[in-house]
Amino acid sequence: MFTKTKMAALGAAAAIALSACASDDSDSGSSTGAEAGDFPEGSTMAALAEAGEITIGTKFDQPLFGLVGPDGAPVGFDVEIGKMIAAELGIDEGNITWTETVSANREPYIEGGQVDIVVATYTINDERKEIVSFAGPYYNAGQALMVLSDNEDITGPDDLAGKVVCSVEGSTPAANIADNYPDAELKLFGAYTDCLEPLRNGQVDVVTTDNVILAGYVDDSDGDFKIAGDPFTEEPYGIGLAHDDDEFRDWINDVLEASFEDGRWMDAWNETAGTVLPEPELPTVDRYENS
Ligand code: GLU
Repeated sequence: MFTKTKMAALGAAAAIALSACASDDSDSGSSTGAEAGDFPEGSTMAALAEAGEITIGTKFDQPLFGLVGPDGAPVGFDVEIGKMIAAELGIDEGNITWTETVSANREPYIEGGQVDIVVATYTINDERKEIVSFAGPYYNAGQALMVLSDNEDITGPDDLAGKVVCSVEGSTPAANIADNYPDAELKLFGAYTDCLEPLRNGQVDVVTTDNVILAGYVDDSDGDFKIAGDPFTEEPYGIGLAHDDDEFRDWINDVLEASFEDGRWMDAWNETAGTVLPEPELPTVDRYENS
């Protein structure tokens, strides 16, 4: 349960994040002044630095991680991670194009070049690694369940038989329910906010996705929703990029590791998701062998 104080803190943080965005001077978003010549010739880093702009896919409807604010710019932890990578390429946050990536279009948008990177509560897994590459993880989440606050009969995934469970196409939580809890009736939409009204009016019994996404909706729900039980999967969040671009992936991993060390990662967390969620442990970057 999240308190009113925490909700007020979230509002304040969102306002700070927005003003930082407008004034172009937030810590994670200020360009380092890097130039194309600072990067290996022919690398994606050199090309992006030379262009002076980057297109980043993120979520637009997920409080705490990626949520479009009143000025049209998204705010949240994923957004801050994206700004930090842009800044290291010498790109000001004003030169970032934010593209909405919903769960199902992340791989196609990376493959088709509509986005340069995706930072969008994007779980690193073997199936996706066949299509795209992942830097990170930069956060470790876990699948959970959200129900109406007065619901007492669902406390974990074993209670889902015969229940209508709402989730999103192309997401790992939806795949997990389909594969491992076949007695649940799965209802899939394009984005998680599509599940909120159906939960409120009883058309669905449960919404499932990562605990930290649900926490944002609970926090916004005026006490109507709650998380039921504990997380029951591991969802390491990675930064998605083109499958064969090992050089870019290594470089992003270096940026992430530096930000873990020098406090930029923690500052980004504290300004966004950290206003509601507990302080996370530092993740360990996984420099896996690309297949
Ligand atoms: N992290 C999970 C996934 O990548 C669920 C959240 C989402 O759909 O973005 O599928």
